[in-house]
Amino acid sequence: MIGQGKTVIQAEIDAAAELIDFFRFNAKFALQLQHEQPISVPISTNTMAFRGLEGFIAAVSPFNFTAIGGNLAGAPALMGNVVLWKPSDTAILSSYTVYNALREAGLPPNIIQFVPADGPVFGDTITSSEHLSGINFTGSVPTFKRLWKQVAENLDRYRTFPRLAGECGGKNFHFVHNSADVESVVYGTIRSAFEYSGQKCSACSRLYVPDSLWPQIKARLLEEHAKIKVGNPADDFSTFTSAVIDEKSFRRIQSWIKHAKESPNLTILAGGNCDDKVGYFVEPTIIESKDPKEKIMAEEIFGPVLTAYVYPENKYKEVLKLIDSTSPYGLTGAVFAQDKNVIQEATEVLRNAAGNFYINDKSTGAVVAQQPFGGSRASGTNDKPGGPHYILRWTSPQVIKETHVPLTEWKYPYMQ
Ligand code: NAD
Repeated sequence: MIGQGKTVIQAEIDAAAELIDFFRFNAKFALQLQHEQPISVPISTNTMAFRGLEGFIAAVSPFNFTAIGGNLAGAPALMGNVVLWKPSDTAILSSYTVYNALREAGLPPNIIQFVPADGPVFGDTITSSEHLSGINFTGSVPTFKRLWKQVAENLDRYRTFPRLAGECGGKNFHFVHNSADVESVVYGTIRSAFEYSGQKCSACSRLYVPDSLWPQIKARLLEEHAKIKVGNPADDFSTFTSAVIDEKSFRRIQSWIKHAKESPNLTILAGGNCDDKVGYFVEPTIIESKDPKEKIMAEEIFGPVLTAYVYPENKYKEVLKLIDSTSPYGLTGAVFAQDKNVIQEATEVLRNAAGNFYINDKSTGAVVAQQPFGGSRASGTNDKPGGPHYILRWTSPQVIKETHVPLTEWKYPYMQ
């Protein structure tokens, strides 16, 4: 709560519940994998050994989720790898606590090495080592691209092809159809856009509403928005969200709000104030855009800023295509509709627009082993942490064939 500005519930979900789920389910999935063995026949026994990769894995974690850092380092270690874990500069305390918990639980020294460091220096150092065998990254697109390019530049150095896994940002949508249940749209959107001040990769940041429902949805959004308490969660447990992570982030979000104030296509409907006197507080902000291609509908802000676009009710098919093509990301998204045909249509058109797709539910709140998480396009390599396939990324399987009937001739039978 203190280090990352989380409320008690956000901290509990993250640092305790999700982290425990990651560790327990990864162990379960690793045991399942062990049982997946190749076919043996009477003349030979075949086994698959799940080796760690040769070299080290660099785990580079973001500030916003303690559990993610623990998993980025923990999953490769579980699969037999040595890990250099570089936590985020703004999440060192909680990450160090996780590291110490692992050591106390019996993890031998040096399996996971905790390396708080300057990001670019760490990136330069690991990518120039011949022993790099993988990067397990979660964070922003520019950082991941930079690491990928550095690996490509150093490719001739490495003893093995490094595995690159990167889960990055999103521009997550809520698509509302005329048949939607208005209350679930309102509650789901407020929660998803503004919990943890929008600093969730899955946070809803673009909302598409038909003109037929807009007066009602707008009024209800503003009514609920007025109830959001922003403040210090350690003083008051009824606080819904706190300050954003640091000054850099504060300035970036502030410049987006300034852009909204100056742009003729954008209107601020609620919020829009920023205050850094006692912390980096940004008021949850709702904006309406007349232009569905405005950059605020396409780029990740990573703050409590939601932009709504109101579409003519009978143009929903075009809007589905618009959602698919507006942003470079493909992380999460939701359709709100009661009409089953529309749900099916949206699911088809938006097939590649979200790695985690929700029907009549908000775009956030993925649970380990229930909704393994990740997206493609600019959102990353979609390796689905929290799912059964994830640990496969951190093993280099070896197949061993033992023959029980040795060869007695080198010629093929037809040559006899
Ligand atoms: P960031 O890219 O700024 O930093 C991520 C990590 O990379 C930090 O540890 C940082 O110190 C390090 N780093 C920075 N420059 C580096 C370099 N040149 N070489 C090596 N490491 C470097 O991201 P952030 O602000 O910590 O996290 C927010 C971002 O993470 C958002 O874009 C968010 O959407 C994304 N995210 C995605 C997921 C997901 O599962 N898809 C989950 C959480 C966060």
